[in-house]
Amino acid sequence: MKKRDLAGRHVLVWGLRKTGLAGARFLLRRGARVTVVASGDASEYKEALEALKDQSVSFLWGDRMGSWEGIDGVLLSPGVPYDRPELEQARELGIETLSEMAWGLSELTVPWVGVTGSAGKSTTVSWVGAMLAASGLSGFVGGNLGTPLVCFLDEDRAVDRVVLECSSFQLEATPNAHPCVGVLTNLQPNHLDRHGTMERYAACKAPLFGHLEKEDALILCGGEPSVLPVVQESRGERITFWREGEDVEGAMCWGEQMILRHPRWGEEVYDLRGMRLRGAHNRENLMAAALAARCAGATKDGIQAAIEGFGGLAHRQEELGVWRGVRYVNDSKATTPDSALRAVEACAEKGERLRLLLGGRSKGTGFSGLRDAVLREVEKLYVFGEARAEIMRDLGGVVETGEYVSMEEALDAAALDAKQGEIVLLSPACASFDAFESFVHRGEVFGRWFRALCSGSVAK
Ligand code: ADP
Repeated sequence: MKKRDLAGRHVLVWGLRKTGLAGARFLLRRGARVTVVASGDASEYKEALEALKDQSVSFLWGDRMGSWEGIDGVLLSPGVPYDRPELEQARELGIETLSEMAWGLSELTVPWVGVTGSAGKSTTVSWVGAMLAASGLSGFVGGNLGTPLVCFLDEDRAVDRVVLECSSFQLEATPNAHPCVGVLTNLQPNHLDRHGTMERYAACKAPLFGHLEKEDALILCGGEPSVLPVVQESRGERITFWREGEDVEGAMCWGEQMILRHPRWGEEVYDLRGMRLRGAHNRENLMAAALAARCAGATKDGIQAAIEGFGGLAHRQEELGVWRGVRYVNDSKATTPDSALRAVEACAEKGERLRLLLGGRSKGTGFSGLRDAVLREVEKLYVFGEARAEIMRDLGGVVETGEYVSMEEALDAAALDAKQGEIVLLSPACASFDAFESFVHRGEVFGRWFRALCSGSVAK
């Protein structure tokens, strides 16, 4: 890959968390002079300062910028609002204000797949990566998910394809995106606190598709008019996946099959019986991923292998395993009743009865929205943590319910009750902060508990 000539240029890096630090190192390796602007003060950035010591970096704390004189460009972290007045001013002076991804893309020479949308990005991106890998193509999967692009570029590793998750925050500062395949998973109101209106939010995603040529593929969701404004200017070839089975071009699921139909490869039928991820939303993610991967060079066999091999991402309806005929599912990421509802519906779609663990710190939205699904699918509720009383108020009496102080006690009780063929589902519908550092920590504790159960150290 060709390194951009940045020798002697003075670049301002805004933000000093993961992306800012990675961006600063990328620029320094190319000989640039770096000034970092970050909120707070030096005491909050010990590790970053250690990593940057002895290099040509100066720091401005308190999120305040002095003068733009002598600055040649800006590298923005995703948390920094693009429309900050200082950045508007920089652009008026002709100084480029680019995302870390944009700086990285300017040296990326490998064909890449970009995925954006309101929901399902991480799942789709990871699945595309798995399909390409199973087809014998090496790749880097990252961006908004996992490792920033600039870190990969600094590894100087040769790969066949790059797959990037692109958030709207990154894309609005990425005018140079030109993937060979662009994917728009869906578009629902999201991040309107930052973007203001739905039009503005949609406009932020458009840069992923603006430079597509007709030989590039644009994968989008059929029957969802809200996605159209995002792609209306794009010349990429539109290939659609359909939520409802439709006898048309693109991708569709019928029962236990997925069909991909397009002149690029003809008609292909895939077997979904071995698919591990459940739920209608995951079938949509699968169709988007399969179309994207097929257009980026994956083979039919590779896609079929990854349908069966891909177990999803940690903490999102993640199957930990089966113990004594009972399936244990970790959906710690579900911090709202809406997400828990999605998980209940997905887990119950093959007819297994559920033992559902709900609890943690309430986000104040109430839990009544879960009533019907609980009544239909849940054998018993295990309610734990700070939100116990609130959950009991909204769901008490709907089905048999037990109350527990901690998640671990609730898990012990569920394991004791569970019968062969049932699912123990942690989809807590609450934040984790009453007892854990984060949803990741909560999921990890569940994982450790499950391993202890399998090794016989949990009483049964
Ligand atoms: P993102 O990266 O866009 O946040 P993820 O793939 O991490 O998306 O999924 C996060 C959660 O969003 C999932 O646990 C599920 O509840 C929901 N979700 C995933 N895919 C979809 C989809 N295609 N449509 C609607 N909701 C989805």
